Amino acid sequence: MTLSFRSKLVASHVALVLVAGGIALFSLDRALAADLARQLDQRLEDQGKGAIEWAEGGKRHPDRITTRIANIVEAEVTLFEKDGTVIGASSPEARGDLGPEVAAARAGSVGRATRARGGRELHYVAVPGAEGTVLRLAQPLSEVNETVAAMRRRLLVASTLAMLVAVVLAILASRVASRPIQEMTTTATRLARGDFEAPIPEGDRDEFGVLWRALKSLASQLKARIGELVEERDRLQRLMTIRRDFVANVSHELRTPVTSIQGYAETLLRDDTPPETRAQFIEVIHRQAQRMGALVEQLLALSELEARGRDDLARESVSVLSIARHVAETVAGHAEARSVTVDVDGVDASAVVFADPEGVERVLLNLVDNAVNYGKDGGKVTVRATAESGRGREGVAIEVVDDGDGIAAQHLPRIFERFYRVDAGRSRQHGGAGLGLAIVKHLVESMDGAIEVESELGVGTRFVVTLPAPRRPSETTPL
Ligand code: ADP
Repeated sequence: MTLSFRSKLVASHVALVLVAGGIALFSLDRALAADLARQLDQRLEDQGKGAIEWAEGGKRHPDRITTRIANIVEAEVTLFEKDGTVIGASSPEARGDLGPEVAAARAGSVGRATRARGGRELHYVAVPGAEGTVLRLAQPLSEVNETVAAMRRRLLVASTLAMLVAVVLAILASRVASRPIQEMTTTATRLARGDFEAPIPEGDRDEFGVLWRALKSLASQLKARIGELVEERDRLQRLMTIRRDFVANVSHELRTPVTSIQGYAETLLRDDTPPETRAQFIEVIHRQAQRMGALVEQLLALSELEARGRDDLARESVSVLSIARHVAETVAGHAEARSVTVDVDGVDASAVVFADPEGVERVLLNLVDNAVNYGKDGGKVTVRATAESGRGREGVAIEVVDDGDGIAAQHLPRIFERFYRVDAGRSRQHGGAGLGLAIVKHLVESMDGAIEVESELGVGTRFVVTLPAPRRPSETTPL
C-alpha cells in the first residue's frame, strides 16, 4: 500500500504523540505508585514511633491499647512481646501473622514488609520500643492501588484528549506542509505534459523556494530546448521535402527528353527509315540533347552556388553598360528570330556595381532572355540602369522591362522557386525548366543584392535587380 505524503506526515505525528504519551504515562504511573507506597510506609513508621511508648505503658490492657491506637492511626495494630509472642492485636487475623518485619524490629531496627494476607496485599511497619516490645502497624495497599488506578484513568482520559488534539493539529500541519508539494506536483505534471505556460511562483526564502526556482529554470530551459528541437525538426522536414521535390522534378525534367531520344533513336536503328525522316529525327535528338545539356548546366550552376560561400565570390567594380551590351549581343540572334528589339540605351554609363562580373552577366542574360522568350513577337525589351542611393548604402537599380503578356498576380510570389513555371507548355517550348529565376535570385542575394518583379497581364513585366555600388575611397575603412 502506498501512503500519500500527507498520510505519512499525519501517521508520523500520531506515532510520535503515542510514543511520547505512552512513555510519560508509564513513568508517571510508576512514579506515583512508588511515591504513594513510600508515603504510606513513612506515615506508618512515624505513627508507630509515636505510639510505641504509649503502647508499652498500656501493656496491661494490650487489646484495648491496640484497638485505641488502631482507631487513631486508622491501621491494623499488633503488639509483640520481646520474645515475639503476640500480646495484643486490633484484629484477630493479625495475631497469627508473623513476618520478617517483626524479626527485624526485635533485632532493634525498624522492620518493614509487604505481603498478601487473605487475598489482600498489606504493608507492615514494625518499630521496637525501649523495653524490647514491638509495635506493628499494617495497612492494606488497596487504597494506594485505588488512588493509582483513579489517577491512571484520569491520565488516560487526558492523554486521549491530547491525542485527539494532536491528530487534528497533525492534519492541519500536514496540510500546510504538503501544500507546496502538491502545488509542485501539479506544476511538474503540467510541465511533463508539455504545458510550459503553467505559472511558477518565485517561492519564499525556504527550501521550497529553492525548489520552485530550480523548477522554473528547468521549465524555461526545457521550453527553449524543445523549441530549438521543434525548429530543427521543422527545418529538417523542410529540407527533406525540398530534396525530395528536387529529385522528383529533376527526374521529371529528364524523362521527357530521354524518352523522346530513345524513341527517335530506336526508329533510326531500323533500316526502313527514309533518309529525309532520318535527318528530321536526328535534329530532334540533337535538340533534346541540347535541352538536357542546358538543364544539367543549370543544375550544376545551382549546386555550385549552394556550395560556395558569400566570400568565395570575386567582387570588383563592374560596368553595367558593358555587360548589358554584351548580353544584348548574345541574345541578338534569338531576338531577331522573334523580331524583338533589345534596347540598352537606358543604361547609364556611370552605373557601376560592386559584384562578380560573371554573376551579373548571368543574371542579366537570364532576365533579358526570358523577356525575349515571353515578350510578344515584334515587341521591345528595355534594359535600364540608374544609380540609387538609400537604405544606408548606395546601389544601382538594373531594370529589364518587356511588353509581353505579363504574369498573373497569383504566380508572382512563386516564380523564383525552383522548377516553377507559369505556363509549363510555353516554357518548355523554349527549353526552360523553371530554374533560371531561381539561379538569378540566388546569385543576386549572394552578391548582397535584391530582386523584385512587377507585372500586369497584357501590358508587360518589369524585373528590378538592385546591386551594391563600390564603396567610395572616403568610405573604405583604413586597414
Ligand atoms: P524558365 O527557364 O522556364 O524560363 P524561369 O525560372 O526563368 O524558368 O522563369 C519561371 C517562369 O516565369 C517561366 O516559366 C515563365 O512562365 C515566367 N516568366 C519569367 N520571365 C517572364 C517574363 N519576362 N514574362 C512573362 N513570364 C515570365
